[in-house]
Amino acid sequence: DTTRELLLSRIKDVQDYPKPGVVFKDITPLLADPEAFTALTDALAELCVKHGATKIVGLEARGFILAAPVAVRAGLGFIPVRKAGKLPGATLSQAYELEYGTAEIEVHAEDLNAGDRVIVIDDVLATGGTAGAALELIRRAGAEVAGVAVLMELGFLGGRAKLEPALRGAPLDTL
Ligand code: IMP
Repeated sequence: DTTRELLLSRIKDVQDYPKPGVVFKDITPLLADPEAFTALTDALAELCVKHGATKIVGLEARGFILAAPVAVRAGLGFIPVRKAGKLPGATLSQAYELEYGTAEIEVHAEDLNAGDRVIVIDDVLATGGTAGAALELIRRAGAEVAGVAVLMELGFLGGRAKLEPALRGAPLDTL
């Protein structure tokens, strides 16, 4: 549809970034276009309402840029999930596999509680490792997963299939 076309037209393919052979999906042209950024914010906020979310988790770093205006638009709280060592308070941590080695993300333990229905927002679903770890954090905090919503999915990496067990039936929406 027209929103999809508008969003697609504002995503730039950058060859060989951050290393040779990789095509990086750059969303900065989309962010710089108020019509496209608004359309994206509205579409994501609509998903939050549709799935009955009560809180929104944004994944560092580009997920923050998308999730914050969505939280304001939807009238819901914004919770940052950050790379390890960045949050000052008591945290829950979750390690996950990268292509080489492991990474770790954290959330403030007090930000997610039983009774919360949480939607996870990020720009790109690649292997699904980061989103999967975020779902673990949400459940370990006692909260419920309302879904995962991303701007785009790199289908050839198989992230959807990899994320499927962690979703436990919750929706994964790609705009
Ligand atoms: P995953 O854990 O492999 O799914 O990687 C997803 C994370 O890497 C997300 O937080 C994305 O922001 C980032 N990422 C991976 N590929 C790209 C890309 O082509 N453009 C922008 N971000 C990317």
